[in-house]
Amino acid sequence: MKTLTVSVVTPNGPVLEDEVEMVIARAESGEIGIMPNHIPLVAPLSIAAVRLKKGSDEQQLAVNGGIMEVSSNKVSILAQSAEKPEDIDEQRAREAKERAERRLQSKQDNVDRVRAELALQRAINRLDVVNH
Ligand code: ATP
Repeated sequence: MKTLTVSVVTPNGPVLEDEVEMVIARAESGEIGIMPNHIPLVAPLSIAAVRLKKGSDEQQLAVNGGIMEVSSNKVSILAQSAEKPEDIDEQRAREAKERAERRLQSKQDNVDRVRAELALQRAINRLDVVNH
């Protein structure tokens, strides 16, 4: 089976480098599946899981936005943050989710709703990946 190299990097350093058969990511335009020999591509990513497939095995990463570049059988993901399931602190994500929900429900006008909405999406993404 042909493979491609995937690398995920954040400002804190590399998160993962692996050989996989398929990468599935959610771009802002929709879900994209990348297999070997894919045409070159650059796409901004949504806050969502990136799925890495190897045979019947699937690994997920919680990737928080960023950008995906595909060229020469290499998929590079640069994101502000990205975590493997085993590195996700579920309690912290639950607390972040509750905090964001409280802010979104608050009637005060000094709440930055866009920021709270993004924090909520990051927390939900982490909870989805850790409970997958
Ligand atoms: P919090 O409010 O809990 O800090 P956040 O969504 O604002 O969450 P980020 O700004 O996305 O956090 O991430 C800051 C750093 O903390 C990154 O290195 C990220 O990987 C890490 N991080 C955030 N939440 C978690 C978590 N639940 N488990 C493990 N690492 C996390």
